[in-house]
Amino acid sequence: MGKVLQIGAGGVGTVVAHKMAQQPHIFEEITLASRTKKKVDATAEAIYKATGTRIRTAQVDADNVDELIKLINDVKPDLVVNVALPYQDLTIMDACLATGVSYLDTANYEPKDEAHFEYSWQWAYKERFEQAGITAILGCGFDPGVSGVFTAYAAKHHFDEIHQLDIVDCNAGNHHHAFATNFNPEINIREITQKGLYYKDGKWIETEPLEIHKPLTYPNIGARESYLLHHEELESLVKNYPTIKQARFWMTFGEQYLKHLDVIQNIGMSRIDEIEYEAPLANGSGVAKVKIVPLQFLKAVLPNPQDLGENYDGETSIGCRIRGVKDGKERTYYIYNNCSHQAAYKETGMQAVSYTTGVPAALGAEMYLKGLWKKPGVWNVEDFDPDPFMARLGEQGLPWIEEFDGDLEL
Ligand code: NDP
Repeated sequence: MGKVLQIGAGGVGTVVAHKMAQQPHIFEEITLASRTKKKVDATAEAIYKATGTRIRTAQVDADNVDELIKLINDVKPDLVVNVALPYQDLTIMDACLATGVSYLDTANYEPKDEAHFEYSWQWAYKERFEQAGITAILGCGFDPGVSGVFTAYAAKHHFDEIHQLDIVDCNAGNHHHAFATNFNPEINIREITQKGLYYKDGKWIETEPLEIHKPLTYPNIGARESYLLHHEELESLVKNYPTIKQARFWMTFGEQYLKHLDVIQNIGMSRIDEIEYEAPLANGSGVAKVKIVPLQFLKAVLPNPQDLGENYDGETSIGCRIRGVKDGKERTYYIYNNCSHQAAYKETGMQAVSYTTGVPAALGAEMYLKGLWKKPGVWNVEDFDPDPFMARLGEQGLPWIEEFDGDLEL
């Protein structure tokens, strides 16, 4: 049905490539490209062993638009799936524009030197994508991603007006490390240490980092302390569903994680500015002054999220709790998926956080190749029909459950 060029082969990328390789009738040719060719080749080999599908590999520096253009022209894909880092979103979108190829990602653009994310940078490409006749599907992981599709599904089938939206993300798993992040540590720590933000009555309200928290009860898991964070999908959802009066995002963290995060911040290891470091020369004849970014250095010594799967037990539970009106009556609605770390690991070699992100990205690519999510311009997932995506989500490994008129706790 089509050819895909995937850029990025980390934890999430491994799952995306795996899910696509399981479906050669849809993904006729897959090319997996990343910065480090050796790692990509090893991933392709593991996927071949698990699925019997051979995928091509390539090396690319996705910060370099010319290199990307050359690769896209060589591969001639129908779609570029970007699961590298948010820093690369704009260079990859530039290369897609230059070559006339559609685009999909799972996280919105962030500049390297500023821990700040918002859609304005990518939305600014809308007219150019329209004129080029190509589609960009933004934020097609779980959150953002499925969280937006769940909201669109609720709006289409269960509500006349949505008034309150709470996206709730619980990881009740245990990886048996003192401290580790579940996806790229640099991106993860930048996200969690920034100020909180939520939407109320037409305004955005800022909080101190992790200032607002409360226990929420997750299905099959129980009560977990949940912290209000800023999350990118709130920005598009309040725009696309203007009846929303309040929109918030909650994520669980354990005490151990927060204690380590506190220390990391207090000792300056979460800094994203460059500092000078005296590195001993290999021949022992003195030191060289090199610039390092503390958070990038920290990433190098933390456990690699890709290696967490084997001993990870427990599950994730992510969903949307929605309050609104249907046929003149107040209604509450909770839709969620629970995903087992071990089941995810057995299927793809990756834990559930990578799995819950990678499955929707591969499914979004399928929606595009089938022509179901295809329209020139730059779109968030809720801009497309949620039904065909929801119909396939369970089959692809992320079954969902709905509860009506229960206590949302929020
Ligand atoms: P990893 O750090 O595990 O993987 C990143 C991949 O991108 C690696 O293969 C890396 O290559 C590659 N890469 C980094 N820089 C470049 C570059 N300049 N050129 C080419 N390749 C590059 O990250 P994750 O897999 O954990 O996360 C991937 C994406 O998924 C991130 O954008 C993250 O924000 C997003 N995400 C989205 C979620 C959602 O629900 N929407 C949830 C979790 C993550 P190398 O091996 O050389 O480092």
